[in-house]
Amino acid sequence: MSSDDCIFCKIVTGQIPATKIYEDEVILAFLDIGPVSDGHTLVVSRKHFERLHDCPEQFLGQISSSLGKIAKAVASAMDSDGYNVLCNNGKAAGQLVDHLHFHIIPRNTGDGLFDRWPAYKYEQGKIDEIAAKIRENL
Ligand code: 5GP
Ligand code: ZN
Repeated sequence: MSSDDCIFCKIVTGQIPATKIYEDEVILAFLDIGPVSDGHTLVVSRKHFERLHDCPEQFLGQISSSLGKIAKAVASAMDSDGYNVLCNNGKAAGQLVDHLHFHIIPRNTGDGLFDRWPAYKYEQGKIDEIAAKIRENL
């Protein structure tokens, strides 16, 4: 599966350049061209899958097994206090490039990134209703 007009497929095939930091037979990791912090890295699957759930378990396992290693290197290199691993799925979730990718975003205490986490409380009974619906879909 591939998409002719997909930017990340073009990076994978070398048609457009990227600042690569790691590659193997399953993934490619390169620096984001529009970082939210220094060292902001993208880890993409070599094959074109649009969303997380489109990616077969076997590949997902292989991608996941590399994420920690790359995140550790990125955080160490940037001397960061921490990092976020983020995977946007669908336009509503902020996915701009429809090719499965994980952001590794180095963080430092007080950097102010993602400060607003709009948490709220469920109304009585709603948490069980929602959990049941999700279980039905698994
Ligand atoms: P999304 O919103 O889809 O999760 O994130 C897409 C990311 O890809 C953005 O952070 C954006 O800066 C990055 N990006 C888009 N085009 C390019 C490109 O041509 N090269 C690189 N290195 N990053 C890109
Ligand atoms: Zn693609």
